[in-house]
Formats: sequence, C-alpha cells, structure tokens
Amino acid sequence: MTTIPHTASHQAPSREELEALRQRYRAERKRRVRPDGVAQYQATDAEFGYYAADPYVAETEAADREPLHDTVDVAVVGGILAGARLRQRGVGSVRIVETGGDFGGTWYWNRYPGIHCDIESHVYLPMLDETGYVPEWKYAPGEEIRRHAVRVARRFDLYEDALFSTSVTALTWDETTGTWVVATDRGDAFRATYVVTATGTLSTPKLPGIPGIEAFKGHTFHTSRWDYAYTGGTPDGGMTGLADKRVGVVGTGATGIQVIPMLAQDAGHVHVFQRTPSTVDVRANRRTTARDVGADREGWAHERRENYLRIVSGEPAGQDLVADRWTESAGLLEKLLPSFRRQGDRETFEAAYEAADAAKMNELRARVEQTVTDPDTAERLKPWYRYACKRPTFSDQYYDAFNRDNVTLVDTADTHGIERVTEHGVVVGGTTYELDCLIFATGFSVGTSGVLSGKLPVHGRGGTQLLHAWASRGPRTLHGFTSNGFPNLIQMGSLQNASSVNFTHVLDEQAVHAAALVAAAEAEGALVEPSREAEDAWLAALAEDAPDHEWFHAECTPGYYNREGRGRPNGPTAYPHGAHAFHRLLKRWREDSMTEVLQPRTPTKDR
Ligand code: NDP
Repeated sequence: MTTIPHTASHQAPSREELEALRQRYRAERKRRVRPDGVAQYQATDAEFGYYAADPYVAETEAADREPLHDTVDVAVVGGILAGARLRQRGVGSVRIVETGGDFGGTWYWNRYPGIHCDIESHVYLPMLDETGYVPEWKYAPGEEIRRHAVRVARRFDLYEDALFSTSVTALTWDETTGTWVVATDRGDAFRATYVVTATGTLSTPKLPGIPGIEAFKGHTFHTSRWDYAYTGGTPDGGMTGLADKRVGVVGTGATGIQVIPMLAQDAGHVHVFQRTPSTVDVRANRRTTARDVGADREGWAHERRENYLRIVSGEPAGQDLVADRWTESAGLLEKLLPSFRRQGDRETFEAAYEAADAAKMNELRARVEQTVTDPDTAERLKPWYRYACKRPTFSDQYYDAFNRDNVTLVDTADTHGIERVTEHGVVVGGTTYELDCLIFATGFSVGTSGVLSGKLPVHGRGGTQLLHAWASRGPRTLHGFTSNGFPNLIQMGSLQNASSVNFTHVLDEQAVHAAALVAAAEAEGALVEPSREAEDAWLAALAEDAPDHEWFHAECTPGYYNREGRGRPNGPTAYPHGAHAFHRLLKRWREDSMTEVLQPRTPTKDR
C-alpha cells in the first residue's frame, strides 16, 4: 500500500502527495468493488418483509376501515408538503395516502437512538414561517422533526381525509370521467381529478444479501424500524434491554454514525461491522434561541433557507447565515455545478479542486488519529476516497466510542462485507462473532419506491403504462413534474428536476409548483398535460449543460452514489445549474408560460 506523506489540515498537498493519494484511492476502490454491484442487496419483502413492517402501528389497528370508492379533487401519494401547499391554494378535497401510520415520512420510520438531522434545523424544517415554530437546536432530534410534520398536518387540516397504513398499488386514468382511479392495498378504488406523487427517494430499507441471514436465531431488525420493545429506551438512549447483550451493527453510513455511540453507551458489547469508513466531520450541535436566528423578523426562515441554498449551489450570497461544515465544503460537494466551475479553464479548475479535496480529506483523517487511541483501529477508520464520493457525516461522539472497552471494530473490506450469518452470529475472515442481536444500518434501495420502481403501475391515456412509454427513449417530462399522455399527474422527486443537500427545501418548492399547476387548471377548467414539444424542449435544455461527471464517479469507492462502483452515467437526468437556479426558472415559468400545459378537458387521443 502506498504511504501518504502527512499534510497538516488545510495545507496545500504537494504533487508527490497527490500522486500517492491517487494510487491509494485507486487501490482502495479496487479492494471494495464487487462484481455483483447493486445485485448484492436483498429486498425487504417476502420472507424478509419483517424488516420493513411498521413497528409503530398494530396491524389490526391499520386494517380497521372500510375500502373507499368516492371521489376527491386531489390524491396525494405520500407528500405532506404537497397537501399543505394545495390547502394554501384553497383546493377543496385533498386526500393524502400514506404507507406509514402517521405523517413524518422518513422521520416517521427512522426513530433509532441518536437520530438527528445533520442539516441545520432552521433551514431543514419546512414551513417555519407559516407555523411560527422555531427549532431549539442547531441540528434537531428526529422526534422534533416528526412532531413538526404533525404540526404542519394539523395546521393545514391534512388529517381530515388522510389514509394511513395504506399503499397505492395502481393509478389508472379514466378517459370518460377525466379522473384517476386510485387503487390501494386496503381495497380502495377511489377517484381523483389530480394525482400528486411524492413517494420519496430513499424509503425502502435494504439488507445485504448475506448467505445465511435468515438462519440467525438472535434478535434482528433494520435501523429504520427500531425495536424499542426489545432494546428498551428511547431515541435519547437508556436501552436497558441491551445491558447484557452482544450487539452487532452492520453499516457505518450516516445512520450507523449516529446510532453506534448510543449503542456503545448502553449495550454489553458492540461489534461494528464496517466495510467502508465514512468521513466524520465536526458536528458542534448546540441549543439556539429565536434571537440567534433572527426569528423575530417576518420571513426569517424563508430568507435563511434561500441563503443556504444559494451557498450550496455555488451562487453569490453575501453572508453565510448557517455557517457550518456543509456550507464550508460546498465547493467540494457540488463541484459539478457550472456555478462552481466559473473560474479558469478545466485543467486549472480540476487541479485546484483536487488539491482542496486532498486537504479536506487529510483534515478528516487527522481527526481520526487525534481521537482514536488504538493505532490499528484508527487506521481502519480512515476514509480513503475523494470527499464527494460518499455522503459526508458529522459526529462529535463517533470516534470516541471506539476508545471504549465494550466496542470492537470489525473491518470487512477484504471480504467485501460480512461473509456469512449463522444461527449464533456473523462470520468475517473465517472468525465467528457470536451475537444476541444483529442490527442492519444498511440503508435504503435507490429508486425502488413509487412510480419509478415499477411497483406502482401508472396507466395513462389509452392504458399506456408510464414506464413502458419511457422504456425505449428514456423518461420524458416537463420540468420533471408532468408528462404527455398522463394528464393531471404531477410527480415530485429528483428526476429531470433539481436536488440539493437540503432536500426538504427542494420538496417544498416542488409542492408549491404542484399546487400552482392544480390551481391554474381548476381556474381554467383545464387539464394539466405538456405537449411532446414541451417535453423535447425541456430534455434539450437539460442536455445542453449536462455535467460530465462520469469520470468522477467511476473513480469513486462503491456506494449508492455511483451504483455500487459502476459509475453514474452522464445524461440529462437533472437540471444542471442547481436547485436555486431551477427554482427561479420555475417561478418565471409560472408567471409567464404556465398556460402551455393547460389543455382542454375534452378527451383527445394523442397530442
Ligand atoms: P447508507 O447506504 O449510507 O449506508 C449503508 C452502510 O451499510 C454502508 O456503510 C455500507 O458499506 C454498509 N453495508 C452494506 N452492505 C454491507 C455488507 N454486506 N457488509 C458490511 N457493511 C455493509 O445508509 P444510511 O442509512 O446510513 O444512510 C442513507 C441515507 O439516509 C444517507 O445517505 C442520507 O441521505 C440519509 N440520512 C440522513 C441523515 C441526516 O441526518 N440528514 C441521517 C441518516 C441518514 P459501504 O459503504 O461499503 O457500501
């Protein structure tokens, strides 16, 4: 293995060091890439459905209602923000269909000990101006965010007609009535004039496809379905049920980093099965007051969130109101946005970028050394890849946990992860680690929820299925929201749209846009449906400046960012100038051109 000369934090690395780093990163990638790529994972269905079941609502309670066959104005699949923005627009009947037993989305499902949001709460929590709520911590605990979702739902009367513990199984456009038939797994078949889908991007838990996983006789669950009945305690800790238990945790991503220090405090012994170490930066969580964030001024939350989005999108913002590690490292994370590439030619930019990246990674590796006392453990906890290859994480307790006698790090990189699970434990490198409890912090399937997964078939005009229509020429939308042949269907998500680290901001802007489309169609007595020409024009706009990022992801260590090492194909998958510019574009379009998607309600075969 190449030795990397040490560079102190923020110091520009020498040419020799950069070359040595390149070699080390290549070697580490090679060590980790698996031939089976994304196929290495096991879905949480069939005999593994137990891992995805709702631990917060009893099955009998959820099933206790009659199927619905009525008609509503708008059916919203999953999205609380879409519901709220529709209500603000005065849309009459809005029915949210939600797989969970309550509102909260990812914060409903994820309640593991230590759960916090690592994006600043004052920009992450939506609708603070509208609800008057001011978060109390810079980084809010998950429960505070879940309660805020409930607050938003109450404020906009979204409980009124919501269907919980219900999943939509098919959407079918009925040409004769000009409505969608919404079928669910509870036997509903109700009608809606409009359907808004907001099914989330990382919502279906996944397991590693480890041989023998079903044989384990101890207790086991996924972090997104935490079993407090077994562990005892709450998200704040106090897991007395684990005091005499040998606990194994698989996974050291953003979830593992938060949960491991909590387990270390409460469990008899914790084995951390690590495959790729995360970058773990300073978190510096602290209590905040309304004064700290200027919450005495009207529109303070809107202003703060816009400021944050500008900075992480590489746009001039004047001051940095949030000032944390995300805004500090924005240039490294969103390097592909043209706004960050403005200066110099490509070669100069790449060189400056690589040097800054190396300095940041050296700083993070030095942090491990400064905290972890056992040199071998410290070495194994060091991340060897470029900063944007994996999602950054933040903790001021994670590395300290490895200085405890009851925590053992088990490095599984050489065996591409855990080799085998047996009745009594986990096998890595021929050694069996006996366990009472095995917890999977192994993340979520990408693109397997909602419309794009194929699990929610959408039949538009003439019975055409959305994914079949897209099969040969790829997805076709206007702004990611609407598609020809699928009238009054509005999709939220990142496809042909824009994304950001502050995803709730993006979702809220999408909700504003979806509600504006519905309101305009209602006002005009029209259908929402783009022409093929409008779709073509949008695809051309996406392709014009599509970032050349394939080279970057192809050199990265595997993970869900690069399809487990396969790289990320170039192409017009998202708006290339970032979320802030995209929001401006949408606003202008709503003001000047929205009528282009409004079509007469009379049935037409093909547009
Ligand atoms: P991730 O997909 O990020 O991490 C999964 C972990 O499981 C990785 O460490 C992975 O290793 C490991 N793993 C998978 N298979 C095996 C195996 N066979 N053997 C050993 N280890 C294995 O999931 P998370 O739940 O941590 O995070 C998912 C996303 O959720 C985040 O990226 C983030 O977007 C969001 N999140 C946000 C938070 C917030 O505060 N805002 C908090 C938590 C999550 P490897 O890296 O080698 O594949």
